[in-house]
Amino acid sequence: MRERFWERFPLAELTAEEWEALCDGCGQCCLLKFQDDDSGELAVLDLACELLDIGSCRCSDYANRFDRVPDCTRLTPERVDEFRWLPYSCAYRRVAEGRKLARWHPLLSGDSRRMHRKGVSVRGFAVSSRGVPEEAYEDHIIAVIPIDD
Ligand code: SF4
Ligand code: SF4
Repeated sequence: MRERFWERFPLAELTAEEWEALCDGCGQCCLLKFQDDDSGELAVLDLACELLDIGSCRCSDYANRFDRVPDCTRLTPERVDEFRWLPYSCAYRRVAEGRKLARWHPLLSGDSRRMHRKGVSVRGFAVSSRGVPEEAYEDHIIAVIPIDD
């Protein structure tokens, strides 16, 4: 990977390896979310996608994720305008908005555990959505985020 590529090249010019490395592995994008059609607000739940390994905050079947979870979203540079649904801490959103990576980001710290210690990842509070009935989802809302048009 090129040195400090995230500062030197636009997202569209990153290699596939660089693009993947930009993910800090927080797992926040794998929490269940629902958007209110009227207000546009996004409700974020403490329930994680059934494929998320909550201990590592990584997808347990990344290669087949779109087959197994049709709602899983592929992040691409072309969809940068949609990145507002991602958490403010997300590295893709940071770069897309011209912000710097956080010092705890593994690319800067060299330590993927620091992010967990900082409480940025979902480890420690998320639970699997597997087996949770939809009628119980409302009890799992942990944040409601306004999404501007
Ligand atoms: S929120 Fe962003 S940085 Fe965190 S796991 Fe998802 S894509 Fe990666
Ligand atoms: S399929 Fe994998 S990458 Fe997609 S939301 Fe679920 S855990 Fe995350």
